[in-house]
Amino acid sequence: MATVEIRDVRKSYGPVEAIKGIDIAIRDGEFLVLLGPSGCGKSTLLRMVAGLEGITGGEIAIGGRVVNHLEPKDRDIAMVFQNYALYPHMTVFDNMAYGLKIRGIPKTEIRARVDKAAEILELGRFLERRPSQLSGGQRQRVAMGRAIVREPAAFLFDEPLSNLDAKLRTQMRVEIKRLQDRLRITSLYVTHDQVEAMTLADRILVMNHGVAEQIGTPLEVYQRP
Ligand code: ADP
Ligand code: ADP
Repeated sequence: MATVEIRDVRKSYGPVEAIKGIDIAIRDGEFLVLLGPSGCGKSTLLRMVAGLEGITGGEIAIGGRVVNHLEPKDRDIAMVFQNYALYPHMTVFDNMAYGLKIRGIPKTEIRARVDKAAEILELGRFLERRPSQLSGGQRQRVAMGRAIVREPAAFLFDEPLSNLDAKLRTQMRVEIKRLQDRLRITSLYVTHDQVEAMTLADRILVMNHGVAEQIGTPLEVYQRP
């Protein structure tokens, strides 16, 4: 079953057609990378799936349910951004727990989910620290932990590694790959970095000027002339 279906989705900003009809079904557990140069429409498409941007035409379904008119919080998705936007005054535990607290999840359940995520991300020793006491990589892992504990139908990544230095970027790429192999969460990942696309993607959607230029596995995309 496809978990995120994007059906003939279009977006105009006034006279500017930013997205000119994209069709793609992201399968259950699939890691789909949206790749393309700056301005091609990647983040607009991601933001429409997230519900942060209205859609001009077409339909988006998550978990078989059309979400066009749903608020972001009702879409069963979790986003990971490039600026991790952690709450500086909260501990790592509270940063990860926050999204569950505001949804009224019981305390014992929150504890269990955060502990599990912390174990997977090797953050167990840092739960009582504040973000300022963590390295960049650890902060990025907390940001991912915050998404994981929600147990969403899909993860949306908006260039999460683009602010990191080269060494950390490589580390985090490996980390995301490891997480994906372990958790198999349906993911839509936006990047302009071909190495990220090659190493992370099950399939790549190459965008150019608001259209899907190619869709295929990394090998298919890179072997094409
Ligand atoms: P990418 O993420 O690939 O860099 P974007 O989705 O940010 O591309 O932008 C796609 C196109 O839509 C660009 O031409 C951009 O200038 C335009 N665009 C994006 N957001 C807006 C907006 N809020 N108002 C007007 N134009 C926008
Ligand atoms: P990024 O490339 O990291 O996505 P951008 O600078 O393209 O960041 O966009 C940042 C914000 O500005 C987004 O909310 C986007 O929708 C908006 N934006 C992008 N292009 C335009 C534009 N031409 N006019 C108005 N808003 C825009």
